[in-house]
Amino acid sequence: MAADMRAGLVVDGGSDLKMILSYVNSLPTGNENGLIYALDLGGTNFRVLRVQLGGKDKRVLDTEFEQVSIPQGLMFSTTEELFDFIASGLAKFVRTEGGRFSLPHGSKREIGFTFSFPVKQTSIDSGILIKWTKGFAVSGTAGKDVVACLNEAMERQGLDMRVSALVNDTVATLAGARYWDDDVMVAVILGTGTNACYVERVDAIPKLRSQMSSSGSTIINTEWGAFSNGLPLTEFDKDMDAASINPGEQIFEKTISGMYLGEIVRRVLLKMAEADALFGESVPEKLSTPFLLGTPDLCAMQQDYSSNLEAVESILNNAIGVRSNVNARKVVIEVCDTIVKRGGRLAGAGIVGILLKMEQDSKGLIFGKRTVVAMDGGLYEHYPQYRKYLQDAVDELLGSEISRNVIIEHSKDGSGIGAALLAAANSKYALKI
Ligand code: BGC
Ligand code: MG
Repeated sequence: MAADMRAGLVVDGGSDLKMILSYVNSLPTGNENGLIYALDLGGTNFRVLRVQLGGKDKRVLDTEFEQVSIPQGLMFSTTEELFDFIASGLAKFVRTEGGRFSLPHGSKREIGFTFSFPVKQTSIDSGILIKWTKGFAVSGTAGKDVVACLNEAMERQGLDMRVSALVNDTVATLAGARYWDDDVMVAVILGTGTNACYVERVDAIPKLRSQMSSSGSTIINTEWGAFSNGLPLTEFDKDMDAASINPGEQIFEKTISGMYLGEIVRRVLLKMAEADALFGESVPEKLSTPFLLGTPDLCAMQQDYSSNLEAVESILNNAIGVRSNVNARKVVIEVCDTIVKRGGRLAGAGIVGILLKMEQDSKGLIFGKRTVVAMDGGLYEHYPQYRKYLQDAVDELLGSEISRNVIIEHSKDGSGIGAALLAAANSKYALKI
């Protein structure tokens, strides 16, 4: 991981890790002020948020948000349909304000846009979608500036707002967590997909040398989901990848993130049903349906501590129409635990890779003091076993003396506030309340 990070910092295309420049060169200070909006398009949900920032002492005066899950069909729609959905959600949200928030004459409402896909940033408020991930296959977006797409859709809605910052969800999470804690250096998302960003010294980014002075620091979006170098893969991983809509891509993501853990388990169970009659003589029909078993199902089954595992039986029955005896249920739990353990430990190893890279390049400035890794995403938030395996791996790899200083901390919904803060920092109108 550390070696691939370095190679990606030398030149674009230097490794699987894109090491994208975020154009975020200063992190929130607490002085941010005014009325700001945030939009968040993730893997599963779409969120609109309004934040009133009160500056150093008052901080966040108020937030209001609305969240909807992204309709399945939109993932396979056209660019216009997807962005119309986003813009109309935003328009509705603003319309229900009535006259509650008046704007100074000549100014516009401003937005921080969290767009959780690999984007080649061209400035703090523009960037080109490289490719979709997480099962999205919207046509015509790759290669386009997603802020321009949003602007056009807002125009179609008759909505006049300005996108002041375009950020990845990891970058927004880092900014949101840094607002409260100066020691936050890394942010990791473990949800439908996965990614990490971190604070990098400008003089450690060779591909930047021509463009900026070599002092100060910036945030690098690693896009670590694309990591694959030396990852040990099983036949189940390879088959799932081959059947996916992005074969050969996002291999680390396919091994550790929420979209895929259930599907890997389903594939293992199917093989056990066929080869070892795990669920009796016949193979349950629905067990052959891709993605029918979700990571939340694995999680729910793993919280069943009863002796005859009745919750496991009912989840298996509901999710994939499987009837099971107690022995089969125990095997299922063991399979879930194996896949989740691998995912959590690899995620932990990835975090250690980033920290080691930072430590080596800063000559001891990371491990000698308190360093916080801000975590978010449904997988990390809701799956206690995954979280524990991740922490265990970090502790093992770093050793207890160092890992005592490394705080891995859930930053719940930090990305909404984070995007708003970065938009405020980059505001053209600096709305005052
Ligand atoms: C995307 C990243 C994103 C991550 C977590 C990945 O699939 O490529 O940009 O940060 O998911 O949402
Ligand atoms: Mg998200």
